[in-house]
Amino acid sequence: MHIVIVGCGPAGIFAAIRVAETGSQNRVTVLEATHEPLDKVRISGGGRCNVTHNCFDPVELVKHYPRGHKELRGPFSFFQPRDIVEFFLRHGVKLKSEPDGRMFPITDSSQTIIDCLLSVAKSLGVEIRLGKRVKTITVTSDGNSSRFIIGLYTDESIAADRVMIASGSSPQGYRLAESVGHTIVPCVPSLFTFKAKDERLNDLSGISFSRVRLQLDTGGNKKLSQTGPLLITHWGLSGPAVLKLSAWGARTLNECRYKAKLTVNFLPEHDMESVYNEFLLRKKRHPRKRVVSQPLFDIPKRYWTRATAAAGIIDTLLWANISKVALTALAQQLTTATFLVTGKGIFKEEFVTAGGVSLKEVDFRTMQSRICPGLYFGGEVLDIDGVTGGFNFQSSWTTGWIAGGSMGGTSLKN
Ligand SMILES: Cc1cc2nc3c(=O)[nH]c(=O)nc-3n(C[C@H](O)[C@H](O)[C@H](O)COP(=O)(O)OP(=O)(O)OC[C@H]3O[C@@H](n4cnc5c(N)ncnc54)[C@H](O)[C@@H]3O)c2cc1C
Repeated sequence: MHIVIVGCGPAGIFAAIRVAETGSQNRVTVLEATHEPLDKVRISGGGRCNVTHNCFDPVELVKHYPRGHKELRGPFSFFQPRDIVEFFLRHGVKLKSEPDGRMFPITDSSQTIIDCLLSVAKSLGVEIRLGKRVKTITVTSDGNSSRFIIGLYTDESIAADRVMIASGSSPQGYRLAESVGHTIVPCVPSLFTFKAKDERLNDLSGISFSRVRLQLDTGGNKKLSQTGPLLITHWGLSGPAVLKLSAWGARTLNECRYKAKLTVNFLPEHDMESVYNEFLLRKKRHPRKRVVSQPLFDIPKRYWTRATAAAGIIDTLLWANISKVALTALAQQLTTATFLVTGKGIFKEEFVTAGGVSLKEVDFRTMQSRICPGLYFGGEVLDIDGVTGGFNFQSSWTTGWIAGGSMGGTSLKN
């Protein structure tokens, strides 16, 4: 049997390895449009490749996927982060965890991952053909089984018994899927930073908060919220809390053209009232101290100065003389500060597309198309995306592994 995989990204190569590992007599060819296999792996995680996340419970793991959480539940019980860690270890690459759960090769170099995958594929006899961009997929069916003719831009045609589309977020891959009858859920960007022009943020680039609660209001009924670290940038706001919010709100934010109201609680363990009460204590204990001079609650000093200014508190004001109105305004600045999001910025470390092949049309026990027997999918071409932290590669490893196993004729339990 000839199995052809379109795209040599993590999903494609992993599927090819899995087919070949099953030990069957299948011939496996991977067609890659560019001359750089695994190019996204190379640039991923700032060149270090955040391979996966040390979340080993499938129930917890799926919570990191704004799209695909329901469908990935089954696949993750068969192939999850522990399995990819073991795969790389088996092939001589040790991964390490960072305190936030992200896992990288101990070499801190994505090249280690690329070299490993390419050498395993080669040793198993997988043929990787570079510079082979697929233009068309033609299906012929005799009722029981399908055969495929793959048309390349070089005018070459390749016959295949099974085909997998693992073309990532390439528009051409979506067109190939559409050409055989699949529905494409419209694509929008995910994992981006928020642009926000605001006096409170000016010249504070680099200042971070270890834990804030964000609430995003895009004008509809549903408000999205996230808790986590926040970073002030040249253009606005970033950090894990913003990136998670951008992923969960990818579609809604796109609909409102990335204009929204963001409410920040810089003290997520507190509310307005408890902060106000802390202020009253401070007023009683340190009446002769200037309000501006010493931040409360570990708020970075430079941001505290901005928050007090935004609350209308002048530099020389003492705690003894602060009015109830000013106390309320300052408590508001710390617990319900609002910022206008004016656009989306770029997060250089990771980027994915929400949208792709409709998940209803794929059987996640095999990754086979429900529309075109013999056709399989894996990776980002599907309407699946995760938050930042290694979750996007993990869904590619898992769906690639399942597709490879099924194409090679191995059931999930083997
Ligand atoms: C800058 C950046 C950093 C990232 N860092 C991380 C990270 O650290 N951790 C993480 O989990 N995720 C990361 N991601 C996301 C991750 O790279 C993707 O989720 C993942 O690569 C998807 O894998 P894939 O195999 O589905 O697609 P891809 O990696 O996109 O591979 C698809 C391949 O198919 C080829 N192709 C497309 N069309 C055709 C065609 N018609 N014919 C032949 N070949 C074709 C493409 O050239 C490509 O090589 C990052 C993304 C970016 C952009």
